[in-house]
Amino acid sequence: MLKQQLINSSKYDVKCPYEMNPEGICIHNTANDASAQNERDNVNREDNNAEVSFHIAIDDIESIQLIPFNRNTWHAGDGGNGQGNRKYISIEICYSKSGGDRFNKAEAMAARVVAKLLNDYGWGIDKVKAHRDFSNKNCPHRTDMNNLKQMIQSELNGSSANNSNNASISTSDLYRVRKSWGDASTQKGSYSNFNNAKIECDKNYGYSIYNSNGIKVYPVTTPVPPTPPISTSTDSEVKRYSENGKCTITVDAINFRDKPSTDEGVIQGQYYNNESVNYDLVVITEKYIWISWIGGNGSRRYMPITQKSNNEKWAYCV
Ligand SMILES: [Zn+2]
Repeated sequence: MLKQQLINSSKYDVKCPYEMNPEGICIHNTANDASAQNERDNVNREDNNAEVSFHIAIDDIESIQLIPFNRNTWHAGDGGNGQGNRKYISIEICYSKSGGDRFNKAEAMAARVVAKLLNDYGWGIDKVKAHRDFSNKNCPHRTDMNNLKQMIQSELNGSSANNSNNASISTSDLYRVRKSWGDASTQKGSYSNFNNAKIECDKNYGYSIYNSNGIKVYPVTTPVPPTPPISTSTDSEVKRYSENGKCTITVDAINFRDKPSTDEGVIQGQYYNNESVNYDLVVITEKYIWISWIGGNGSRRYMPITQKSNNEKWAYCV
């Protein structure tokens, strides 16, 4: 699947000077209409001394590896020590300038190549990144990374089925475009090429792609990550002590609350500039000094009067 046609090692100093232990795969579009062979030959050209390179070029008919995976390439635009440039296998998908059928085929081929690399390295789909993840460039400009990842995932699903010894699993998966798996009468077509199924599916609102096992493979709804627990107060109480006094507000207004916490305490009201309040308790939390009193309804109120981080005082107390 991956044809090796390494560049002349005399070019390594310019095109791939550093040893590399790859940590992932970075996807690019060439933004031109050259073939994979031309892309590879261009890097290998004797007078090409630009620090621009990539590991693999892929078009509609072949995938060519031109630089060994244990050497870095200059592709991610994130500098000499950049994560992308120094740790990622770079893949250029050809014909992205004009797009069309040969580009779609190149993308489908890229999905297969990436799936194979993920398998080889024992990586998950999270190891697949876009050029733009590393630097401020709109690349890949034509490939939709979500779609590409779905194509890669379905390649992975297919290959794991192939690897299992279960003979009942079809090795040549068919992608069926239907409204639902159970309603075969809505079928728009069945395709051996996922990308072709996707093109048909995208034309028909409300349709999905199902593999031979009836599993919906497109569009895949992104699972919603679990909601993190509501943040507990980061302003915990340090100490409290009785003290009787009177505070006069020196800022525009201060909220007072039912707990000595700006996270957990519910605002009960405000005191405004020059207004005074009598208090009988002082509470010190990690962030504030609070005064406290029993409100008119018999409930305890808490009002921050000093912000500890910068010792900013909001009231004058006697
Ligand atoms: Zn790029």
